[in-house]
Formats: sequence, structure tokens, C-alpha cells
Amino acid sequence: MSNECSTIHELTKKLKRHNFPYNEYEIPLNGIYLLFEKGEKGHNQDRIVRVGTHTGENQLRPRLKQHFLLENKDRSIFRKNIGRAILSKNNDPFLKYWEIDLTTRKNREKYSSAIDFDYQKEIEKKISQYIQENFSFCVFMINGKEKRLEIEAKIISTISWCGKCKQSKEWLGNYSPKEKIVKSGLWLVNELYKTPFTATDIEELDILING
Ligand SMILES: [Zn+2]
Repeated sequence: MSNECSTIHELTKKLKRHNFPYNEYEIPLNGIYLLFEKGEKGHNQDRIVRVGTHTGENQLRPRLKQHFLLENKDRSIFRKNIGRAILSKNNDPFLKYWEIDLTTRKNREKYSSAIDFDYQKEIEKKISQYIQENFSFCVFMINGKEKRLEIEAKIISTISWCGKCKQSKEWLGNYSPKEKIVKSGLWLVNELYKTPFTATDIEELDILING
């Protein structure tokens, strides 16, 4: 799988790299994003550390905003995982509250007195700072939810099977309580180690990226 993974990394060099603060109008309405993180290398270049997309129509820009800007861990699994790793690295007992999904009214009421919301806000700020300072990304347009999900899954599987993409010793994800993140070296827990690109069908990705 490392040849196909190498091809994916090679293809990203042709795409514009966005850093925070990025220009939202340069982001397509529909597509896939590939995240890179400072200090992480693979295939003699920056290593892809996360792949993501969106399900609803025209939701790529809002999705990236949920990761980079909106301080709500329960609307971004990426932020939730960065938080888990930061809290776990600091042996912070707040981790058990961080896990609670506060999108439901039931949970908000149940935990209203138990959770220190000021402290939670502080952590959200730290996460925004970490993400904005350490991550950059590329995007490419794909229309159609089914296609996006298929390509996203294949990219994730290909990278996870690659023997040459390994995290650094200093990588924040090494502190994650999620075994899959530590094992894969990716900020991902789904679509790992499934069906990768073959040498033939990776040409499709080349066409999607380069037109
Ligand atoms: Zn690789």
C-alpha cells in the first residue's frame, strides 16, 4: 500500500495549502479535506494526519469552521479527539467530563452542576489555538455524497495500511486514550484498515484532483 499512499501524498503537492486564517472563498462547496500537522513527515514531505468530508450538500466550509473555529467539541469529532489527547497528556481528570455529549438537553440538565463550564471553555480555547497553529490543509472538490464518502474511505484505508507513514515520537496523538489513533498515527477512528485504492483505481483520484 505504500506506493498508493506515496501517490496520494504526491498528488497533494499540486493542491493549494491552506493555513489559518484561510480564505473561505478559496474552499469549494463540496469536497474532501486532507490535514497536515507540524512536525509530522511521511514520504519525504508533510504527512497526512487526517482525512475528512461532509455528508450534507455544500457543507465543506461549515465543516472546516467546526474544526478550526467553533468552540464546541460535540460538533467536531476532530476537536473532541485533540481535547482527549491534550487532557490525557496532562493527566487532567476533566477528561471524564470532556467525554460527555452535551448536544442533548437531557445531558445538559443532568450535568449542569457537575461540569465546570468555565474550565471547559478554557480547554476549547487551547484546542483552537493548537489547531490553528499546527494544522494546515488541502481540499479538492467532489460532488455527490456517495462519491465523497467512497473516496474518503479509500484514502483513509490506504494511508492506514501504509508501512511508511508513521507518527513522530512527539506526536500529540500518541497521548490519545483512543487506541486506534495511537495505532494508526491518524486523527481518525473510522474507515481504518478497510478497502484501499488499488494501483489502477488510484488513477481516478488523480483525475478528481487534477481534472
Ligand atoms: Zn504512507
